[in-house]
Amino acid sequence: MFDKILIANRGEIALRVIRACREMGIASVAVHSTADADAMHVRMADESVCIGPPPSSQSYLSMPALISACEITGAQAIHPGYGFLSENAGFVQMLEDHDITFIGPRAEHIRIMGDKITAKDTMKALGVPCVPGSDGGVNDVDQAKAVAGQIGYPVIIKATAGGGGRGMKVAQDETGLEVAFRTARAEAKAAFGNPDVYIEKYLQRPRHIEIQVFGDGKGRAVHLGERDCSLQRRHQKVLEEAPGPVITPEERARIGKVCADAVAKIGYAGAGTIEFLYEDGEFYFIEMNTRLQVEHPVTEAIFGVDLVRQQIRVAAGLPMEFHQEDLVINGHSIEVRINAEKVPTFSPCPGKITQYHAPGGLGVRMDSALYQGYSIPPYYDSLIGKLIVHGRDRDEALARLSRALGELIVDGVDTTVPLFRALLDEPDIRSGNYSIHWLERWLETHYA
Ligand code: ADP
Repeated sequence: MFDKILIANRGEIALRVIRACREMGIASVAVHSTADADAMHVRMADESVCIGPPPSSQSYLSMPALISACEITGAQAIHPGYGFLSENAGFVQMLEDHDITFIGPRAEHIRIMGDKITAKDTMKALGVPCVPGSDGGVNDVDQAKAVAGQIGYPVIIKATAGGGGRGMKVAQDETGLEVAFRTARAEAKAAFGNPDVYIEKYLQRPRHIEIQVFGDGKGRAVHLGERDCSLQRRHQKVLEEAPGPVITPEERARIGKVCADAVAKIGYAGAGTIEFLYEDGEFYFIEMNTRLQVEHPVTEAIFGVDLVRQQIRVAAGLPMEFHQEDLVINGHSIEVRINAEKVPTFSPCPGKITQYHAPGGLGVRMDSALYQGYSIPPYYDSLIGKLIVHGRDRDEALARLSRALGELIVDGVDTTVPLFRALLDEPDIRSGNYSIHWLERWLETHYA
């Protein structure tokens, strides 16, 4: 096992990893930009290293600075968290050259899944059901029209290098397709440096259902059921729950096995998430994320496992601490993402936290790096906390979420908390009756 791990991240996810390290008796090293000198992850880690100025391109994304920080502190492994360098195959390669262990999958698997066209081809070959669409990339308008004509409108044009909900354009008909195709390619080139796009059928009212998988890198893999992340704004998740309100045990077992078998076959190591759209009882693969997800705590809650601990074990060459038959669902869990943003424009609201009080009590987990007097810097993601509740069933989880949101105090900046308080009064949310388009429509009518 490692003696010391460096966490190449900040905010709540850095704390999450430091906590796992501490429970495992592993020393932790925080890295930070000059803007984060007073951040909670710096205070909580055993050691810290300043790795650069505020812009993440010169600090949290600086590979040489991270490698130097490992060398200075003697850290043997890096946990990347999510975002930043967590899905950067080049970084994994560079760590290997420096004899530093990357806590995550092999570079090869990150590379395959990081290109959505290759990912889809690979998954299809492994027997995973995919959204109907183009076979591989689409290079010109005529080919796009031919594909769209075959699968039927509406269609969605997606960047193969896309991520974070960006790089997608919907076309309702052939005229729209021409414009959508050209803008999608231009935007993909500008945003990701790669203009390649592909086409999928645009599903009308699917749910976003993702399967958590975990592999030991030696051909054994399990699944930990699904998370329903259908409540989205601009293709970005806002609230997640597990198990999914509409997924049956039979469906879970079937798709879970398909996913576990697929990652076992490629010898995948560590945590991964296979994302699907789900409509009328069918699952359609959209992408795989080769890292820990923001929403992993809802899975931890219902299975009673520590996914970060398992990531660290597998990276150290130890076996996972569970088999498929040990993984039994207990109750229901919901997470809400608390962002420093002003509702309903969702414009970022950095600033000083004048008062902070985290909710507590049975079945409540607050993952946040906030403290009273902390100043949220303007340079990074606006996620400032995740409130996760666990109950015996969905109704109890909802009641607990409502109670916990009532206890939470975050003063000094605007947050998305009022949004969640309002959503909990909605009959569709209470009954679990929502698709990926529900929230956008609700926001339009509610704040019109
Ligand atoms: P990203 O990597 O940017 O997260 P994804 O491929 O995971 O992109 O898609 C993000 C979201 O976009 C999905 O959760 C869904 O809401 C929407 N989406 C993607 N593909 C489709 C599709 N074929 N039909 C309808 N919505 C889609």
